[in-house]
Amino acid sequence: MDAEGYRWAVWIWIAVGAAMLPVLLRRTAPYGRHSQGAGASLPSRLGWLVMEAPSVWVPPACFLASPPRGVVAYVLLALWELHYLNRGLVYPFRIRSSEARMPLLVVASGFLFTLVNGFLNGRSLTVFALRDRAWVHDPRFILGAGLFVAGFLVNTSSDGILLALRDGRATRYAVPTGGLFRYISCPNYAGEIVEWCGWAIATWSLAGLSFAVWTIANLLPRALAHHRWYRERFPEYPPERRALVPRLL
Ligand code: NDP
Repeated sequence: MDAEGYRWAVWIWIAVGAAMLPVLLRRTAPYGRHSQGAGASLPSRLGWLVMEAPSVWVPPACFLASPPRGVVAYVLLALWELHYLNRGLVYPFRIRSSEARMPLLVVASGFLFTLVNGFLNGRSLTVFALRDRAWVHDPRFILGAGLFVAGFLVNTSSDGILLALRDGRATRYAVPTGGLFRYISCPNYAGEIVEWCGWAIATWSLAGLSFAVWTIANLLPRALAHHRWYRERFPEYPPERRALVPRLL
């Protein structure tokens, strides 16, 4: 694909991602607590492993398919893999309930998303948004990488709090406490959004922007749905807690 074709592909991908936002605000993706239990499904753990596999493998494959790309590209790949070795290979084995299932449709659409997203970002790092060594001193890289790491820590620690709630209780839900749950219902989603906004800034690339747009389109509606769900089921749910942004949203 030449540079012009690639640019068009990413703009179309951004438009599709933005169009998902109103769709998902009306219809919550049917997995986890919003699952409707209908249709073919896979065990959740297997679903996550399949869905996230392209994110783990496609960007490194893009590096193997191109000549050596300089230190900055490898630093950015290391950040990407910091997230995806956790999400794709560690997180699935931390899910506690062995009974949980994920609809095949969610797995298939997740797989398609991570395949395209991994390819666009992998090609961006290795061909279309190459950075020279001086980029590590650029304020965009420093700010973006800082946000990425901060978002990663919030995301993984908040996921950890949620996963620990299931200790010994197969499918029960409880009100999460501690960490940023003091302020919002979905700090794991807030952390993930900060991470990929940081990625967009650190890479200063269209592919990075597309990932930030898709992440917001996926997780903002889901955070609002989780928040409503908690409020409906737990009368004692802390009234000051917001969905995604402390004091605001
Ligand atoms: P959730 O917060 O819905 O669930 C995370 C895990 O914790 C699940 O195993 C869930 O069980 C369990 N859990 C959640 N809340 C409770 C509770 N109150 N009591 C007991 N157990 C609970 O996250 P998702 O499954 O939607 O996403 C997992 C990760 O993937 C997150 O870090 C998210 O940021 C990331 N992600 C990223 C996307 C992107 O576009 N970049 C898109 C989707 C997810 P159960 O499944 O049974 O509800």
